[in-house]
Amino acid sequence: MFDKVLIANRGEIALRVMRACRELGIHTVAVHSTADEEAMHVRLADESVCIGPPPARDSYLNIPAIVAACEITGAEAVHPGYGFLSENARFAEILEEHKIKFIGPSSAHIRTMGDKIEAKRTAKELGIPVVPGSEGGVSEISEARRVAKDIGYPVLIKATAGGGGRGMKVARSEAELENAIQTAQTEAKAAFGNGDVYLEKYLEKPRHIEIQVLGDGQGRAVHLGERDCSLQRRHQKVWEEAHSPALNAAQREQIGGRVAKAMQKLSYEGVGTVEFLYENGEFYFIEMNTRLQVEHPVTEMLTGLDLVQEQIRIAAGASLKYEQDDITFSGHAIECRINAENPTTFAPSPGRVENVHVPGGLGVRIDSALYAGYRIPPYYDSLIGKLIVFGKSRTECLMRLRRVLSEYVIEGVETTIPLFQRLVSEPDIIDGHYDIHWLEKYLAKNP
Ligand code: ADP
Repeated sequence: MFDKVLIANRGEIALRVMRACRELGIHTVAVHSTADEEAMHVRLADESVCIGPPPARDSYLNIPAIVAACEITGAEAVHPGYGFLSENARFAEILEEHKIKFIGPSSAHIRTMGDKIEAKRTAKELGIPVVPGSEGGVSEISEARRVAKDIGYPVLIKATAGGGGRGMKVARSEAELENAIQTAQTEAKAAFGNGDVYLEKYLEKPRHIEIQVLGDGQGRAVHLGERDCSLQRRHQKVWEEAHSPALNAAQREQIGGRVAKAMQKLSYEGVGTVEFLYENGEFYFIEMNTRLQVEHPVTEMLTGLDLVQEQIRIAAGASLKYEQDDITFSGHAIECRINAENPTTFAPSPGRVENVHVPGGLGVRIDSALYAGYRIPPYYDSLIGKLIVFGKSRTECLMRLRRVLSEYVIEGVETTIPLFQRLVSEPDIIDGHYDIHWLEKYLAKNP
């Protein structure tokens, strides 16, 4: 096992990783920007190193500074969390060159899955069903017209290098196609420095259902069930739950089994998430994330596994100790992403947190780096906490969530807690009847 791990992240996920390290008896090194000197992840770590000024590109994305921090502190491994450098294949390679273990999959797997066209091609080869679309990138408008006619309108134009829901445009007819492609290319070029786009059938009423996987890089892999992340705003997840209200055990086993088999064939190492759209009983692969997800606690609640400890053990060379049949699920879990944002306009609300009251009781988990007096900096994303609630059944979970949301107090900044207080009493949510467009439609009708 490692003696010392550097956590190349901030906020709640840095704390989450630190907790796993502590329980494994591993020393922790935090890195931080000058804006995060007072942050909780710096306070709780055994050691900390300042790696640069506030903008992420100069600090949390600053590879030379992070490698230097490892060398100064003698950290043997780096946990990248999510976001920042977590899916940067070059970062994984550079660490390898410095004999520092990257806690995650091989750089080759990160690279393949980071290119959405390559990822789709690989998924298809591995027997995973994909969304109908172009075979690869599309650059000529004549080719786009032909593909779109083939798969049928509406079509979605997506960026090969896409992420965070950016660079996606819908074309409902041939008349809209050329303009949509140009806009997507321009947006993708600006956001990712790569303007390549591809075409996909636009699904009208799908749910977003993803499968959590865990592999040991030695050919063993299991799936840990699904999460339903259909409640989204601007393609960003807002609420995640497991099990999905739309799936039964047989469907879960079928898609999970296929994904686990694919990961075995790949010899995938560490945790990963294979994302699907689900419509009319069919699954369509959209992408794979080769890292820990924000919503991983939902799966931990149902399986009792600590996904971060599993990641670290596997990175240290352990093999999977269990088979698929050893993985069991119980109960229901829901996660709400609490953002420092106005709950109706979603404008960011950085600033000083005057007061925090955190709810408690049976089945309640809060992953957050907030404390009274903390100043939320304006430079990073607005996620300030994750509220995860567990119940024996979905009904119990929803009742508990309603109770917990009424106890949660964060003063000084605006948060999205009031949005969840509304959602938890909505009949469609209570019935589990929602697709990926539900939340935006609801917000348009109920501002
Ligand atoms: P990103 O990497 O930018 O998050 P994804 O491919 O994961 O992009 O898609 C994000 C979201 O966009 C999905 O959860 C879904 O809401 C929507 N989406 C993606 N592909 C399609 C599609 N073919 N049809 C309809 N919606 C889609």
